[in-house]
Amino acid sequence: MASGARSKYPVPLAPACGDRPAGPTSENLGLPVHQDVETILFDEAQIRLGIDRVASEVTAAYRGRPFTVVSVLKGSCVFASDLIRRIPIPLELAFVSASSYGDGTQSGQLHLNFFPAESEIAGRNLLLVDDILDTGRTLSRLVGEMKRRGAAEVRTCVFLDKPSRRAVPFQAEFRAFEVADLFVVGYGLDFAGHYRNLPYVGALKRECYEKRA
Ligand code: 5GP
Ligand code: MG
Repeated sequence: MASGARSKYPVPLAPACGDRPAGPTSENLGLPVHQDVETILFDEAQIRLGIDRVASEVTAAYRGRPFTVVSVLKGSCVFASDLIRRIPIPLELAFVSASSYGDGTQSGQLHLNFFPAESEIAGRNLLLVDDILDTGRTLSRLVGEMKRRGAAEVRTCVFLDKPSRRAVPFQAEFRAFEVADLFVVGYGLDFAGHYRNLPYVGALKRECYEKRA
């Protein structure tokens, strides 16, 4: 996939990411984002299978119990929208926005940007859905916050799990895939705001993020 895009747009001396002083920008010559991908870790077919499996687990866990899927923006928007369409039982949908990465690849301060309305949390069974469980700080803090705001129950569902990076003890009840300790993009996951639209999960070429230092 990435190699096809590369041969169609041959720019060996000016790779799309190598020329960017501050990560990918709109001045990237309009080259396809596929150019910046080193390897594909999960392709579209694998992702579909992983989501089908998680959706069955979630369906079994919540059958006969009302629940709300809380999508953690922005990263989980692609996963959450595919996931809910594979869950055939009644559910409600809410959103919360949390960002912990800024423009880099190291986990930083967590900012909670907004919460669902109080009425969407209090007394509800919540399933927090996030793109990736890394250090665990984001989800453990969000779970605590939801409980503090009166949620009846809070469980978590992640698209990717990087257990080797955990800084606080945390386990998600549901997860689609485990990944090694490397920075991944695509299927909702970004680097400096870009690459969320890749339909697969991949690792970026080193020069895409090292150039920024
Ligand atoms: P945690 O709080 O668990 O360290 O981090 C969770 C958040 O960090 C994720 O929701 C995601 O935004 C970001 N993150 C962690 N690892 C990666 C990664 O490999 N790639 C991308 N794009 N974001 C990541
Ligand atoms: Mg996130």
